[in-house]
Amino acid sequence: MLELQGISTYYGKIRALDDLSLRVERGEIVALIGANGAGKTTALRTISGLLRPRAGRVLFADRDITRWPPDRIVAAGLAHCPEGRQVFPEMTVLENLELGAYTRPAVTGAQLERVFALFPILRERRGQRAGSLSGGEQQMLAIGRALMADPRLILFDEPSLGLAPVIVREVARVIETLHRGGTTVLLVEQNASLAFAVAQRGYVLEHGRIVLEGPIPALTGDERVRRAYLGG
Ligand code: ATP
Repeated sequence: MLELQGISTYYGKIRALDDLSLRVERGEIVALIGANGAGKTTALRTISGLLRPRAGRVLFADRDITRWPPDRIVAAGLAHCPEGRQVFPEMTVLENLELGAYTRPAVTGAQLERVFALFPILRERRGQRAGSLSGGEQQMLAIGRALMADPRLILFDEPSLGLAPVIVREVARVIETLHRGGTTVLLVEQNASLAFAVAQRGYVLEHGRIVLEGPIPALTGDERVRRAYLGG
């Protein structure tokens, strides 16, 4: 469903992604793990059209989306839930959610109900400023906003970052619920525990290159992965 072929992305002279190739099949949850600065966020921003790769192609649902603008990519069914949540703090919960649907105005009502069913707390807080929510609630809002576009594939950038373990479990539950509902997921994490708990397959990114890939049991059995990404 999603394929990166030989992607190289630069910031000026700095090469952040070096000949990166990966695939996500329809219905999969795929983990992309790597240390701080490995290039995970750059990979997601390249997929969603926020950065232009200098080489390589991004294919989504059999179409070459490499040079598409971000709004067209969202409208095609590929949503991005960014690192650090990036909700608009002065806007209400409802306004933040409505922004997520701007490429698909026709689906707004039904999607809003779907998001509220998944996150009842957002319904309760819909009139509240997003900046007044807790970190966990803001993460739910960021996920809800991505869902408003009714995506077929979601990119998650470190959704567990800075959250208490009980909230991380909630995030895992939500990702699994979406997956059961037919959504395909590419999940980026620095701490591999969440990613490995929900994903079927994974890639390890170091210095902009894929150094290891395989089914999750093979990755968790790898000594280097255990030491570098699982804290032992
Ligand atoms: P993190 O976990 O910190 O988000 P990451 O794996 O997502 O790390 P990226 O943010 O993609 O890593 O960064 C990859 C590399 O590109 C790093 O060396 C980083 O310093 C560099 N980089 C990222 N953003 C910029 C930028 N705007 N300008 C220049 N270099 C950048």
